[in-house]
Order: sequence, then structure tokens, then C-alpha cells
Amino acid sequence: MSNSSGKYPAFPEISPDEIESVLMPEVSQWGLTNGLAMYPPNFNISQGQLAPTTLYPTPFPRQSFEQAISVQTLYNELYAKISQDQDGWLSKRIGELAEFDPEFTGKLWNLYLDAKKRGISQPLALGLFRSDYLLDAETYLAKQVEFNTVSVSFGGLSTKVGQLHRFLNETGKYSLDTGAPFYQQEIPVSDSTALLSNGIAEAVKKFKTAETHTLVAFLVQKGERNVFDQRALEYELFQKHKIKSVRLTIHEIGIKTTIDAATKRLYYKATGEEISLVYFRAGYSPQDFTCAQDWENRLVLETSYAIKAPNLLTQLAGVKKIQQILTEDAILKQFIPNDNDREKLATSFVKLYPLDDSELGKQAKKMALASPGRFVLKPQREGGGNNIYKSEIPVFLKSIDERDWSGYILMELIKPEPTTQNIVIRGNENLREPILSELGIFGWVLFDDKQLYFNEYAGWLLRSKSSTSDEGGVAAGFGCVDSVVLY
Ligand code: ADP
Ligand code: MG
Ligand code: MG
Repeated sequence: MSNSSGKYPAFPEISPDEIESVLMPEVSQWGLTNGLAMYPPNFNISQGQLAPTTLYPTPFPRQSFEQAISVQTLYNELYAKISQDQDGWLSKRIGELAEFDPEFTGKLWNLYLDAKKRGISQPLALGLFRSDYLLDAETYLAKQVEFNTVSVSFGGLSTKVGQLHRFLNETGKYSLDTGAPFYQQEIPVSDSTALLSNGIAEAVKKFKTAETHTLVAFLVQKGERNVFDQRALEYELFQKHKIKSVRLTIHEIGIKTTIDAATKRLYYKATGEEISLVYFRAGYSPQDFTCAQDWENRLVLETSYAIKAPNLLTQLAGVKKIQQILTEDAILKQFIPNDNDREKLATSFVKLYPLDDSELGKQAKKMALASPGRFVLKPQREGGGNNIYKSEIPVFLKSIDERDWSGYILMELIKPEPTTQNIVIRGNENLREPILSELGIFGWVLFDDKQLYFNEYAGWLLRSKSSTSDEGGVAAGFGCVDSVVLY
């Protein structure tokens, strides 16, 4: 079944020679001029390069695109409500899960409990979210891969790659012989840079302080390669909202900031300026914490008066186990009572199973062993490279104690259709190979334990990867940023 309304866009058949001599310089130079950039592994600061990108926008059905966008504020609401920990629902779930993943989920959970003991002084929290989808080839429905509540990336580069593709089209570079636009269909540009920055700016505005201005702290990884994506938000914050930012690693929090013992206000030592918001682009994986002091620093941040984007509970709400539990209608109903809204959300679900001693869990265990080819097995981790696919599932499960299976979820594989209607540019190479695309929809929500103050859609992202690789991390080296031509 095809729900799409328009005609599938034709492919610009440009010769390899012309791609090499005309389009590659266009793309590289546009990219470097405008910051569609990334660092290579083991870089020096002067070595920013064109980010892995596609030459053309990838054809994407308009209806599916709009379907994914249309549920974003519902997802924002859902995850904000969960994060408010209504009746202790999230605490109970995460508490149970913590013992199965003591290395990370457990540690974050204990950090949260410690923070609660010491006192959490800031009731406001900012969620900057991204819900990721693959297009199911049979139904043309956008099916959710996962919901990210921490360190969502590519909001900056997504805007730029859309602008690049639109530029190349409108200036006629895709039709060298006539110089006329090649695509008649819409090539939208994601407003994610501006919209995510708006979210941060609104949170800063709501922050109570006697200071005339405050700082945003970007909490970043040491050696981060995706700096230009982050910087796009930083520069937007300054240009549009006159908000200054500093970049700090978790480790540097202990050295370069200080917290007032009485007020819990956080200050940047070098200038004495107050930090109103900590934006986490790190802290989502155990590798981000190199020593006990780093964990202590995360705890200090949680107790500080600075707004966290996200706070620990909001981060923990994004674990895969919670995604799985929320596909149970009775549970979803506690947070989203409206039947139509729940139905809209459920349209984006595929089957997710627990691997525990419940009836459903027992069934799922059997399926995982008998027909693993239909599934992906996921632990409670973020950032790519953690999942176990298909035939590797039984081998993996048998290698661990069955009591620990509960720490994983089993998810039905979504089957998108690969396309060769694009060319992937990586460094000096351009390659036409079958690719798969994952659509991400951004959103933000500002809330406290009582209410939601803002709930907004914040743009989108298309990432594509070679269809032979199971995972699609751009920074990890097997994916690229892309945009869409809608049909
Ligand atoms: P992470 O938090 O590490 O990004 P994801 O759940 O996004 O974990 O999984 C990583 C990648 O694995 C996805 O980008 C996608 O390419 C693939 N993947 C995950 N779940 C599915 C699924 N149900 N069907 C098909 N591919 C999937
Ligand atoms: Mg992902
Ligand atoms: Mg993720």
C-alpha cells in the first residue's frame, strides 16, 4: 500500500565525471563555508571536514513525514508526564531495572536517589527530545525505533544539509545542462537549529535570578567530533537570544564551576557568571564518566539550582525498557487518557517485548530463541553499537544468566525499503550504494512537577546509512546526514 500522494521524484543522472569535477567541490565548499562539518577521528582542532552527507535529498513520502511530525507533541507530553514521576511510577520502574544494569542505569538511579536526599533545588526541567523512525516498507507508516531524552544530536547539521540540498537544486546544480531546478517537489529545511535554541532560551528566560544575564553550560565529551553541530546551537543562542555559552566536560565541572552551599546556585569560576542551564551533550554512556569525581560532579549538577536539560529522571525515562512498557495500552492510558491521542501514538509502535517471567516475557523468550531473524535485542544503553541483531540473539542470550535477560528488551525489526536514489559523500569519496534512512523528529518541553509550560515541535533530521550495516551512527562512521524531497 502506498499512502503517498505525489509522484516519486526522478533521480538526477549526472555522470561520475561531472559529479567529481563539479558537484564534489560545490558540496565541500558549501559545507565548509556554512559549517556542515565534523572532525575526523584523532583530530587536531584545525582539521574540521565536510560531515558525511548525501549529494541529493532522499525521496520520502509526505504523508509519512507528516505522520511522524504530528505525534511529536504527544510524545513530548508523554515523556514529560513520566518524568514528573506521577505517583512514583517511573521511580518504581527504574528502581526495578537498576539491578539489571548496575554499571549504568543503576548508577544514574543511585545518583538520583542521592540527589533527592541532598535536596533537588530546581523544579524546572527542559526536555530536548528526538523520536526516531524507520519507514515500514509495507504500510508506509513511520514506525518508532526509539525515543531519545538525552544528548539528542544533529539538530544543527540537519538545518544545514537541507539548506545545501535546496541550494544545489534551486541554483540548477542538479541539472547542469539546463541550470533549472531539478526537483519540482518540496525540499524542506529543518528549523531544528532555531527551534531547539528557542527551547533553551525559553528555559533561561524562566530561570529566576537577580543577575542581568546568565550562562548556558554545554556539557560535552572530551574529544567530541560532532562539535560543529553543537556550535550551531551555541551561535544561534547568542545571535538570536544574546545568551552566552561555555563548553565544559563532566570532569571540568569540578574544576571550573563552583556551587554556593546555601543557594545551590552554580557559577562559572573564571568570570563569576551564574550558569542558568546545563545542556547535556554528554553523560549518556558509562565512558563519559572516567572517575568517581565525574559521578560526584553529575550529582552536584543535579542538586544545583541550574536547570538541567535533561535532569536525571528525564534521562532515565528514555531507557528502552520504558519504551517497551509504554506500548501496553493500559499503562499508556495513565499518562495519555484521550483514546484518539493514544491511537495516534500506537500507530507508530512496533511490537516490543519484555524478557522476564511475565506471560508475555515467557512467550518472547521462546520467540527470541526460535525466530531471532525477526528481532533486535536492546540493552538499556544509548549512542549506538549496543544492540544485538537477529541470529546473534540466541548466542548472546545463552552466554548470560537467564535472570539477567530482564535487563533487555526484544523488539520487532522494522523493514524499510533500501534505495539507490542517492549518493553518499564521505571525504573525497562518493558512492552510490543502497541506503536506509532514519527520520528523527525533534521536540522540546519545559515543565516542573506540576505542569507543562511549553510543548513544542522542533524540526527533524534524516540520517542515512549503507543498507548492509545494522546500525546508523553518523559519528561512529557508518551513517551520514541527509534531507528529504517530499512526494
Ligand atoms: P541507540 O540508542 O544506540 O541509538 P537504537 O534503538 O536507535 O539505539 O538502535 C540503533 C540502530 O539500530 C538504529 O538507528 C537502527 O538503525 C537500528 N534499529 C534499532 N531498532 C530497530 C528496529 N526495531 N528495526 C530495525 N532497525 C532497528
Ligand atoms: Mg538511535
Ligand atoms: Mg538512543
